[in-house]
Amino acid sequence: MAYKDEKLHEEKVFKDPVHRYVHVRDRVIWDLIGTKEFQRLRRIKQLGTSFLTFHGAEHSRFNHSLGVYEIVRRILINFEDRPNWNHEERLLCLCAALLHDLGHGPFSHSFEKVFKLDHEDFTRSIILGDTEVNQVLTNISIEFPQKVADVINKTYHDKLVVSLISSQIDADRMDYLQRDAYFTGVSYGHFDMERILRVMRPVEDQVVIKESGMHAVEDYIMSRYQMYWQVYFHPVTRSAEVILTKILHRVKQLYDEGYTFKVEPAPFVSFFEEQVSLEDYIKLDEAVVLYYFQMWAEEDDPILSDLAYRFINRRLFKYAEFNPNLQMNEWMELYQLFRDIDLDPDYYLVVDSSSDLPYDFYRPGEEEERLPIHLLMPNKELRELSRQSDIVEAISGKKRTDHKLYYPKDLIEKLPEDRPEKQQIKKILHKQES
Ligand code: ZN
Repeated sequence: MAYKDEKLHEEKVFKDPVHRYVHVRDRVIWDLIGTKEFQRLRRIKQLGTSFLTFHGAEHSRFNHSLGVYEIVRRILINFEDRPNWNHEERLLCLCAALLHDLGHGPFSHSFEKVFKLDHEDFTRSIILGDTEVNQVLTNISIEFPQKVADVINKTYHDKLVVSLISSQIDADRMDYLQRDAYFTGVSYGHFDMERILRVMRPVEDQVVIKESGMHAVEDYIMSRYQMYWQVYFHPVTRSAEVILTKILHRVKQLYDEGYTFKVEPAPFVSFFEEQVSLEDYIKLDEAVVLYYFQMWAEEDDPILSDLAYRFINRRLFKYAEFNPNLQMNEWMELYQLFRDIDLDPDYYLVVDSSSDLPYDFYRPGEEEERLPIHLLMPNKELRELSRQSDIVEAISGKKRTDHKLYYPKDLIEKLPEDRPEKQQIKKILHKQES
């Protein structure tokens, strides 16, 4: 029997708190889960620094990847007897769903920013390179790894297949919204996924939603909106992320200056040199990173040791509302004041801006050409969601941005009361504090 048709003798099931069970019957899926590159995802948290805000948010990218696979598996069962659906693509969809986040590293967001990396490049490299994942995929056919990479990269010719994994209503989002809501314990993020799966229909190059399912989709879009602002952009999570990013900046700067570390940061050297091999990348997980943070908290460099201590012990920066575009003068003044009190503003005065677009219809040429969600009307016409739904129309295309200024309030408080800089800093920041 060809490897692509091989089934496990007995179905394997994973208990899952969000989908109850994840079912595996295909040999290739089982083999992919067993590869070391996929097992590595157990050691990378799905929500990065969010666990410092929501203590339950310790779930891993492994959980989420299995969840996305399970959702796609269920969608495909519903597609089984639909016209427009090419059954040959089944295994490709399942593999792409399972592997779509394979290249994420520890605290990806900060690492990518500081070391100029892109997790999507690593996803591609792991699928196409000399890895266990590549060996398993090659057993299907010699072209198969490339096809999986193309689906994840959104360049695959069959856009219907791509849209299951990445669109404005895809298996990825449907899993992470529910999973992140479950593990953070918030009450937003829940929507009727079973209903959405039942009303999804494959039509030519996209998945559309039967009009009768519109309210379930509205609920999904609103829950995404809520999750972004209440969980993903939570100001405390961002504070931890700011500190994490500054630790990486500092350690790289020290390395560049030839600083002698008490413990040689060997796993980071190729990151500092910006020549990261696939092997080094795969080895670096959150356990390694947190081990070095502990070591760095003991370093002689006062900035590195302070920042690492803060991250490990959750002594986060406080924040104030601050829009650098509108408050240039205050920014310059604060910058100088921080210098005057010997707090390096490049590490201790940080503006962070987060923005999100909850839903958008198609606007060609914009940064990310978003495919709109289409409703399938009873007369078989397709209608773009925001033209039918008042709720979705109200938030369509509205980009919201939030700016915050992060700083170590504890260190400012420690200054003697009679230092004029202290009073002046407090005066500027007090106005902005919420
Ligand atoms: Zn994902």
